[in-house]
Amino acid sequence: MSSQAQYQPPAPPEPTETAAPKPAPDSRVTPMMAQYVEIKAANPDSLLFYRMGDFYELFFNDAEIASRALGIVLTKRGKHQGEDIPMCGVPVERADDYLQRLIGLGHRVAVCEQTEDPAEAKKRGAKSVVRRDVVRLVTPGTITEDRLLDPGRANYFLAIARRRVSDTQWGYGLAAVDISTGHFALSEADSTSLAAEIARFEPREILVPDVIHDDPELAAFWRETRASITPLSREGLDPASAERRLKDYFGVATLDAFGSFSRAEITAAGSALFYIEKTQIGSRPVLNPPARENAGAALAIDAATRANLELTRTLSGERAGSLLATIDSTVTPGGARLLAERLAGPLTDAQMIHDRQDAVEALVENGDLHDRVRRILKRSPDLARALSRLGLGRGGPRDLACVRDGLFAARDLGLELAKTHDLPRELSAAAQRLQSLRTDVADKLAAALAEELPLLKRDGGFIRTGFEPNLDELRELQQDSRRFIAALQARYANDTGCRTLRVKHNHMIGYFVEVPQNVGEDLLKEPWKDTFVHRQTMAGAMRFSTMELGELESKIASASDRALRIELGLFETMAQELLDLSSNVAAAAEAIAVVDVTAALADLAVRLDWKRPVTDTGLAFSIKGGRHPVVEAALKREGTAFIANDSDLSGKEAGHILLITGPNMGGKSTYLRQNALIVVLAQMGSFVPAKEAHIGIVDRLFSRVGAADDLARGRSTFMVEMVETAAILNQATSRSLVILDEIGRGTATFDGLSIAWAAIEHLHEANRCRALFATHFHELTALADRLPRIANATLKVTEWNNEVVFLHEVVPGAADRSYGLQVARLAGLPHAVVERAKAILSELEKSDRESPKRALVDDLPLFAVPVRAEPVRQAKPDLLREALATIDPDQMTPREALDALYRLKAQG
Ligand code: ATP
Repeated sequence: MSSQAQYQPPAPPEPTETAAPKPAPDSRVTPMMAQYVEIKAANPDSLLFYRMGDFYELFFNDAEIASRALGIVLTKRGKHQGEDIPMCGVPVERADDYLQRLIGLGHRVAVCEQTEDPAEAKKRGAKSVVRRDVVRLVTPGTITEDRLLDPGRANYFLAIARRRVSDTQWGYGLAAVDISTGHFALSEADSTSLAAEIARFEPREILVPDVIHDDPELAAFWRETRASITPLSREGLDPASAERRLKDYFGVATLDAFGSFSRAEITAAGSALFYIEKTQIGSRPVLNPPARENAGAALAIDAATRANLELTRTLSGERAGSLLATIDSTVTPGGARLLAERLAGPLTDAQMIHDRQDAVEALVENGDLHDRVRRILKRSPDLARALSRLGLGRGGPRDLACVRDGLFAARDLGLELAKTHDLPRELSAAAQRLQSLRTDVADKLAAALAEELPLLKRDGGFIRTGFEPNLDELRELQQDSRRFIAALQARYANDTGCRTLRVKHNHMIGYFVEVPQNVGEDLLKEPWKDTFVHRQTMAGAMRFSTMELGELESKIASASDRALRIELGLFETMAQELLDLSSNVAAAAEAIAVVDVTAALADLAVRLDWKRPVTDTGLAFSIKGGRHPVVEAALKREGTAFIANDSDLSGKEAGHILLITGPNMGGKSTYLRQNALIVVLAQMGSFVPAKEAHIGIVDRLFSRVGAADDLARGRSTFMVEMVETAAILNQATSRSLVILDEIGRGTATFDGLSIAWAAIEHLHEANRCRALFATHFHELTALADRLPRIANATLKVTEWNNEVVFLHEVVPGAADRSYGLQVARLAGLPHAVVERAKAILSELEKSDRESPKRALVDDLPLFAVPVRAEPVRQAKPDLLREALATIDPDQMTPREALDALYRLKAQG
């Protein structure tokens, strides 16, 4: 494979630096260690899980890293080059838990299995080692196990490629693959939209060619992303071999049937497939053919804006408290993932938005259909992920059951929708897909699978009695043997006269007879010693085997072996039948997700009284009675009502700017964000938290809200603020919506005020976009008189009993002050500080604003230390210093100097 040579293992993150131990020239190195060293050398960037019996063992550096990361005991196993070999291990049964933690910490794991039966190895000689091979690389972006995945979130890895489109321009191709569902999307971006496009997918892992990684313009993005970065040594694959790889994977002669793709997209897609081969080693995940997501079809939202608006997670990184968590009333995992995806990538195409809104409206208006649909959805499991595990050979009996239930739910959902006439386009397309689904495999699964299913197929017992006669026969044989054992126990007990004699079983010695010690002593003698062969002496008991038990043992073992082989054969047949239908099943899974999202949004609209927005291609922005869904939900839990507010930024050729001044805690940030969130919701096809909304489709959404220090990344609050403001002023178009909250607060007052002033002018004159600008610089309100498309608004407050009362109502006009001191008092600032601040404020207001320092220094009495405050300690007078100050050495004779020195010494 020529491409193989292009992959360079990523430079491992610091803690995963796990160089292979040097192969020892030492002849005492065991064959097993020699095998380990060889495999480790081929996987230097991953922790090696080396299978030994029921454990995955880690050695050397890997063991030290894993024991620290997992909190498991570090032991030793033999010596290598004269030194102890550190070792730790995790039981195979619980490997998923440990993998989850290691992957979460940013490690990659190479899983090395025994690829032959130890008995086979023995045939080659007593000392030969069982063959082992790495069967899979587990990386954050390529996991498929249920326990390692968040059911409500896609698990994308992203491959990026770039091609020159002109002397000064790069074109980027992105391939996003979620192995756990088979989703395979391609899209394009240019230098300015790349970061937003990557952020839309929220990938867990990004394959980045070094040249792109080292591009200074993207350096900040790589530093900030939460994804794990896997470097590629060159620009990925060349387009020709990428195309060949794609055609081979999907078994097609041309890619035309999938759509028309740019060279960069094809290259990225080829790199993604290459990485799948590299990590899945011989297993082929079921992938949908790559689908083009049109450039510009999604509302561009950069990473900072996503974070500020807390779309899918809060600023502190949690899902709870985000917009997604608040609006997620889906009932299937696939629906939850699709909702997250739609929220992350709202549309810009009016027709597509209307199609989604039509579907939601249909379910809002037909409550009966909505209820029936939701009832079916609730019993629909995660079809896509179960299918993917089966495709990779990692599926178990429960995955078969999951697909069975999913297919039945899909069939019922299709029938239910088909009963309704005049379904809108989204729903009728989903219904069609569901109806064309073949469910005969599901019928077969229903007949074949037992009620209780084990997690792993190797445990057997998952095929229903009565499904396969040969299997039933073997099971009966096992049953008979058990009855035979019971009979044997009764006979032995009777013959020996020991009523407490029991026949038991363990993995070490198989079936055995256990008797109390005193009876055991007798069995060692005539006439029993030929029948009962002594095996173990325990505290107070003795164990014996017999010939009859031995024979029975092998009979049972062979019956259960044969039974398991039959079950595994049936499993493979059924799994294969499902995989043959995989594109059909995947389409059904997608249709279920679409219906679930639609029903969830309809549920939200009905429950929370959301309304269908008007969305078109104009520059309108008119919202009546808008609310912030997350703040509203939080206030509701406390029994407080949210105050709805209007906004209007509509323009004909250019947008309007609303400048909001008002008290601290008045609700400025909430108001700003709610308008941005309403746009996101409207363009993802949802109804919105407002009485009425008319939104001209927004192409880019920018938000710079609050100030966040970024010291870890070496940027100050102000620097972060300016970088983000620069991005907005450079990129916003007349179709964009810009939300700016307190720009220019991180520097000296007049510097900040001037920057804010100039930024607003730029938005008005150059960007001509719709914008909301909240500020405490009251001077800025003068701009409304100078620029035609700027209006002032403020948040109403009233004072009552010397207390400020926030009414949270947005009204036209400018605020006269910020009520900062009242808020400071509410926040619990010491009384003395608040009083002192009041005095300073009133002096400042009186004095010339241009020389506040003079006013402070000259007119104000000093800060009065409050009685309750901790007394300031008075320093003791320093006599020595006072004495020193009186001495002038230039005026002294040597004798006087000596006297002075003695005096000083005496004082000290
Ligand atoms: P600051 O200038 O100090 O940043 P702010 O004006 O941006 O304050 P917000 O943070 O938006 O104020 O709101 C403060 C609190 O007021 C919110 O946490 C919320 O509890 C409440 N609030 C805001 N808007 C509303 C509203 N429309 N209805 C009811 N309560 C609201």
